[in-house]
Amino acid sequence: MRLLTEFQEKDAAAIGKELHLFASQLYPICRSITGDGIRRTLAMIAERIPLRISEVPTGTEVFDWTVPKEWNIRDAYIKDAGGTRVVDFQRLNLHVLNYSTPVRATMSLGELRPHLLTIAEHPDWIPYRTSYYKESWGFCLSHNQMLAMKDGDYEVCIDSTLREGHLTYGECLLPGASDEEVLISCHACHPSLANDNLSGLVVATALAELLSGGEHRYSYRFLFIPGTIGAITWLARNHGGVGRIKHGLVLSGIGDAGGFHYKKSRQGNAEIDAAMAHALRHCGEPSEILEFSPYGYDERQYCSPGFNLPVGCLMRSVWGTFPEYHTSADNLDFIKPKQLANSLRVCATIVDILENNRRYRNLNPYCEPQLGKRDLYRSTGGEDISTDINARLWVLNFSDGQHSLLDIAERSGLPFSTIASAADLLRQSGLLVAVPGQKADQVADQITGNIAEVTSFR
Ligand SMILES: [Zn+2]
Repeated sequence: MRLLTEFQEKDAAAIGKELHLFASQLYPICRSITGDGIRRTLAMIAERIPLRISEVPTGTEVFDWTVPKEWNIRDAYIKDAGGTRVVDFQRLNLHVLNYSTPVRATMSLGELRPHLLTIAEHPDWIPYRTSYYKESWGFCLSHNQMLAMKDGDYEVCIDSTLREGHLTYGECLLPGASDEEVLISCHACHPSLANDNLSGLVVATALAELLSGGEHRYSYRFLFIPGTIGAITWLARNHGGVGRIKHGLVLSGIGDAGGFHYKKSRQGNAEIDAAMAHALRHCGEPSEILEFSPYGYDERQYCSPGFNLPVGCLMRSVWGTFPEYHTSADNLDFIKPKQLANSLRVCATIVDILENNRRYRNLNPYCEPQLGKRDLYRSTGGEDISTDINARLWVLNFSDGQHSLLDIAERSGLPFSTIASAADLLRQSGLLVAVPGQKADQVADQITGNIAEVTSFR
């Protein structure tokens, strides 16, 4: 299977537009780590891909954490003495401190002020703030809005509920030939924020749609979960099965105009780390590889020492480093169709690498085989002839059972897709045979009849 080819056959501009459109449909929903906002979001994703929804009751112990009370909100405002809503949740859901306890009161500006959150450096932006684990209430507003509030009494209302309920997450499992898994995880708990949250959700959904059409060697598990507590809850409930996860990726903040950043897994030398470094080097955009650190998105949980799963994190601009982060400026203008589409393209490239990366043995290792007499001294299409033949020579030379196709791609400087196509052709010509590797390889071999020889060179 070549997902990248499938992707390239489509119109990238149309894909970007469609991704952005889906983000704009999800944008108005007031999500949180629990409640109806995340349920509605998951229901919209479920219209596109098969999604199993789990509901975990409040109070459930998950490792060192406890599933919190469920939060729902219907309305919130601050009204001035004239009855005008000077802060209005209906205009933008960021206006309420996420997880605010219910409030109905009339109070002076002085009493209200400790509950008002602003960003003085960006006086027109509204901050996104939460208080999940400490019961509190508050309003987020632009600094200029706050400066415009005159002394006097204000009517304050937060029509929310915080009570026993559930934590909700969604899971899409696309079974492959093997039960070994690739995990794709993204958080779905942020309200009207586009890059941090929605970009990951829409790209992951589109990747699952692309994958669900074809056969694949690995099984793919997509998680749409509330950040931190969702990943912890999922890991607690699936502790026994995580050994199946051979590669994993957290997707977040992949829609802005910045270049790519990939944060390596805690292992640092996992196949996903090498695959991502390779994919980004050839993606045509600036990119940077970051070492693992125990702070960030849900890779922190997957890479906690007890699990130490091979899970990295793909971002564009790194969270916390751009001023729009966790503010109303992370809106639908901040994410771009072109960047969303290219992020999906990188994900498709990664799938192709993981699906096709294996070790082969050259059955004709004594000097170069004569390519001409096998009709291999010709181009197969897109690339110029010298690139195609060069790729075949690289594959033949390094297919000693030790080097994977990804190793060869890295060493040759050629894109993985070119090396993998060369290997396909050489295998069909009887010059290469696959070496048994992990379980997913063996299952793939049974399907294709591609049985390996295990003798070594003498
Ligand atoms: Zn965030």
